[in-house]
Amino acid sequence: SRIRVMELEEQPDVTFEQVGGLKEEIEEVREAVEYPLTKPEIYERIGVEPPKGILLYGPPGTGKTLIAKAVAHNSNARFIRMSGSELVHKYIGEGAQLVRELFILARERAPSIVFIDEIDAIGSMRMHDGTSGSAEVQRTLMQLLAEMDGFGNRGNVRIMAATNRIDMLDPALLRPGRFDRIIQVPLPDADSRREILKIHTAKMTMKDVDLEAIVSQTEKTTGAELQAVAREAGMIAVRRDAEAVEQDDFTAAIKKVKREEHKAQAQDT
Ligand code: ATP
Repeated sequence: SRIRVMELEEQPDVTFEQVGGLKEEIEEVREAVEYPLTKPEIYERIGVEPPKGILLYGPPGTGKTLIAKAVAHNSNARFIRMSGSELVHKYIGEGAQLVRELFILARERAPSIVFIDEIDAIGSMRMHDGTSGSAEVQRTLMQLLAEMDGFGNRGNVRIMAATNRIDMLDPALLRPGRFDRIIQVPLPDADSRREILKIHTAKMTMKDVDLEAIVSQTEKTTGAELQAVAREAGMIAVRRDAEAVEQDDFTAAIKKVKREEHKAQAQDT
């Protein structure tokens, strides 16, 4: 199974320029993850311990994974990614062993950043109520906690996790020495939506497009949805064999993306 774990390693090419908004959040993550790797002497000199683990939380599609990748790219560190829900649903019965191997790999490949997406799948309180599968999930969580306790705060393996459901997390995960720095990644405000739209339309040919109108039509829209809006507007322009993407294409694209979002929400409930 070591081979499987090796496949979790990535070399992300995401840069900070590809992240719209989230400036303060990025700086917080850099202080907790990147600078301890690239300038450890500052922490030494000042005599302060960087946080052990960083938890990013917020709605799906707001850029949590994007930030983690950009920080890994900038730190020149290996990015080792594991999904909490895959641990539970794909590697049934092997979760704890996989977590062990994940951290062995992280040490071998150091400097490295371990990123556990959807950590609520292994670390949520409701899982430990005696329902089926919960003993296995509990073992996986215990292994993760043990691995984290085995690391120093200044090591060259940095640990990050992300969740949409911080309210469900087992408090054991949030104790000092574990995920002790919590950073909220919110829905983008108007300025951030403008930046995100600029990023995702940078390579598109556009004619008389009023970005401000799009910004005000996309309140409560995530970065992932804004990316979908840009792509959809481009596809509509392609379909009508146009020279450039126009305002009407964006208007139609926003409608379509919002309709799909509502459908997805209806399926969730
Ligand atoms: P999930 O909780 O579903 O894993 P996430 O917060 O990790 O979501 P990402 O995977 O980072 O979301 O975002 C998905 C995609 O949406 C990104 O690859 C990117 O193209 C786009 N995106 C999201 N947020 C931003 C942003 N702030 N700036 C630019 N693009 C963004």
